[in-house]
Amino acid sequence: MTDGSSLARPQIDVTTWSDAGSRDALDLVASSVAEMIGFEIAIISVVRGEQMYAVSVEGSSGATDAMLGLATPISMVLPELERADDWGRFHFVPHERIESDVDPIGWIPDMEPIDAPDAWHPLDLLIAPLYDDASHMIGLLSIDVPSSGRRPGPTQRDLLERYVGQAERALRMAVERDELAERIRLAEAARRVVRFATSQDDLESVLDDCREPLLEGFRADYLSIRTYPSAGVPSAGSPSSNLPSDHVDKIRSRARRAWAQQEVVIVGGRPGGGDEAGAVDTAEHRAMTEAMAMTGLGTVMLVPLGAGRESLGHVILGRKDPDLHWSPDEQSGALDIARDIGQAVVNSRNLLQEQQLVSELRRLATYKSQVLSTVSHELKNPLSAITGYLEMLESDPSVTGDARRSIDAVDRAARRMVRVVDDLLLLAAVEDPDSVRPTEPMDAVPVLLDALELTRVAAERRQQRLEVIAPEGEVRVRCDAGDLDRVLTNLLSNAVKYTPQGRTIRVTLADRGDEVELAVTDEGIGISAADQERLFTEFFRSTNPGAFAQPGTGLGLTICRRIVERHGGRIEVESELGVGSTFRVFLPAGDR
Ligand code: ADP
Repeated sequence: MTDGSSLARPQIDVTTWSDAGSRDALDLVASSVAEMIGFEIAIISVVRGEQMYAVSVEGSSGATDAMLGLATPISMVLPELERADDWGRFHFVPHERIESDVDPIGWIPDMEPIDAPDAWHPLDLLIAPLYDDASHMIGLLSIDVPSSGRRPGPTQRDLLERYVGQAERALRMAVERDELAERIRLAEAARRVVRFATSQDDLESVLDDCREPLLEGFRADYLSIRTYPSAGVPSAGSPSSNLPSDHVDKIRSRARRAWAQQEVVIVGGRPGGGDEAGAVDTAEHRAMTEAMAMTGLGTVMLVPLGAGRESLGHVILGRKDPDLHWSPDEQSGALDIARDIGQAVVNSRNLLQEQQLVSELRRLATYKSQVLSTVSHELKNPLSAITGYLEMLESDPSVTGDARRSIDAVDRAARRMVRVVDDLLLLAAVEDPDSVRPTEPMDAVPVLLDALELTRVAAERRQQRLEVIAPEGEVRVRCDAGDLDRVLTNLLSNAVKYTPQGRTIRVTLADRGDEVELAVTDEGIGISAADQERLFTEFFRSTNPGAFAQPGTGLGLTICRRIVERHGGRIEVESELGVGSTFRVFLPAGDR
């Protein structure tokens, strides 16, 4: 016996095609055909792309070994059908009519024709195309070597006709199961990719985790995933190939267009298998074909990665066998998966940009507090000299009249500058992100009482009443004592400053479980809603003439907010013009 084909013939792995039950059913039909009708060989083939693969072979072990899984181009079989005698579902081509000496099925049995007019010849062909519901050819049943040595007579032909139906049903079922298995494989790949894509890992490991499900799900021999650099984020994924950069550019530009058109690009494969040659930019196509050949692949599917309108990278899936076409399910499944990976690229890019932004903001904050403290220190020394000399001049009894008035004005201005410089230094200290340290819990009550004591003098001068509402015993709070004192002193001095004579200022300290609340309420001039929005920003001073008349730097509340926030707390204001204001500070409670 000889293998009639001179081509290096592609093959599929029959053991993984469809499922075991369907393959058994096909084998049963093939062996029944052979046994019941009296033929040595029965072959059932399935159409895949432009090839038909022998998925069930009944015959001698030599025939089975040689034929199982082997492909025959459909183009070799169809012309024979044209030449054939019509025997119902079966078609018979006597060897005299077969043009080449190559058996279209690829098997020439080693038999001597008997000496009879209806003798079977090794090159005789008896085949029945098998169809699906939509009359698409899905396979072929071919039989060879009748045990009688003769071409089948009318009785045998009748029997044959019945087995075609059986073979067709078994093959339809097997094809459906194969498609179902493919969908399950793809769905499983998609599920795993989504799981990795939504993980919090960095992009490199997300892409790395996607490799296995993609290779398995698409039954690919080769996979490359690459994201393109964008918005300051470097590219990620498979290591760069050693392709010429011109090729890389062309592949990327093809992927970009493919993303815009929401399509995959298939290159290679045997003609008619979805190869897009000629349909698009030939330079791009050539680059992809050359890249494919360099990687030793027979067919590749370029899948664009993207999100929204943005193309972000590509996946290249490759198969060595050019006949293993990418099915429509695989093509649309690949696009779906690519969208999920695209989303992962966007997520990780956003995360990276956020991290970069945070560290940039931190760097700026450090720089700002350094500038603030340098400038303030530089101002502090000459200011000390000025105030020192002013004190000397003020105590000089010979300075009188206009000169004394001028000195008093200079003194007021100098004091104001000292306040600004002191506040700036304080702001620099509390804004410095590098100076944050963990704080131990402590009792807020003594700090509050000290701050009240300090304020009492100023309040009494304005005949204001100071009320305190605080629980008995300790109120543990997680805050630095000096910082808490600064916040309270600021809020209390503001309350005194911005509250007319004779009114009441109330301070409340309350334990609120996880938080401690400190509230300073006054019956002062109040703050407009517009001013409340900007109250905690540097140098903000209200436009309210009543407020502006009071000395101030506009830094006190900014310092308060910074201090409170760096302790993990918050500050809020509630106020009504002409009625009064309440400033509330919430700080994390200390352990009990
Ligand atoms: P300063 O008091 O030094 O101007 P602050 O940052 O402490 O700076 O306050 C900013 C502005 O908020 C003040 O200029 C004032 O207009 C307004 N303000 C603060 N506290 C009160 C208050 N208790 N009542 C009315 N206005 C206030």
